[in-house]
Amino acid sequence: MKQSLLYSGKAKDIYATEEDEVIISCYKDQATAFNGLKKEEVVGKGRLNNQISSLIFDKLNRAGIATHFLEKLSDTEQLNKKVAIIPLEVVLRNYTAGSFSKRFGVAEGIALAQPIVEFYYKKDELDDPFINDEHVAFLNLATTEEIAYIKEETRKINRLLTAWFSDIGLTLIDFKLEFGKDKDGKILLADEFSPDNCRLWDADGNHMDKDVFRRGLGEMTDVYQVVWEKLQELD
Ligand code: UDP
Repeated sequence: MKQSLLYSGKAKDIYATEEDEVIISCYKDQATAFNGLKKEEVVGKGRLNNQISSLIFDKLNRAGIATHFLEKLSDTEQLNKKVAIIPLEVVLRNYTAGSFSKRFGVAEGIALAQPIVEFYYKKDELDDPFINDEHVAFLNLATTEEIAYIKEETRKINRLLTAWFSDIGLTLIDFKLEFGKDKDGKILLADEFSPDNCRLWDADGNHMDKDVFRRGLGEMTDVYQVVWEKLQELD
């Protein structure tokens, strides 16, 4: 099934399959932060993120969101439609936190009246700079119509995710999405959705996400395991 290695990322390896338009994503036991400056092997993380992301993407597919997810193959592997990733990190914030709090000098955890969508140019050499819609157009990353679609889809996904996490007692503070284009040019939600790329706070304000690793607050797999167990309570 798994053929040549197409790409090796920080958290996943991507393999070709016998089918041209299908790839296998293999989740790794590696944690990185601060653009790769902090890097550790974390046993069990690959399995947890693959399980969590598979569950979320399956629910998004069933809710009518166009995604790259086809099926979970094993503990650490999933089958995805092949897409050309648009080099944009699409961040949506429901509450202030992280770089937003730092940039604007505001405390973390303030509810935003309206969710805010931000773009970052996905380019490690440049440290993923913060960009606006006009920069996206200048860099030829997406057309005006595609930008509008990506923003609308991100807001729709936020409404679904916020409700699901709320049902299991977690607040979705913010998250990062990536989109890609399939062979017909259709934009699909791609990459992953896991505590690696979102912030989740429990009712006591505990961090149930990668901030545990970034900020040295404890064992990330302990909190990811709790998120995974809670998510399984959903339909
Ligand atoms: N995020 C991500 N990858 C990145 C940067 C951010 O997945 O390279 C996620 C992060 O986990 C958080 C959201 O995007 O859920 C907003 O992150 P922020 O801009 O606050 O940056 P950070 O404080 O994580 O550096």
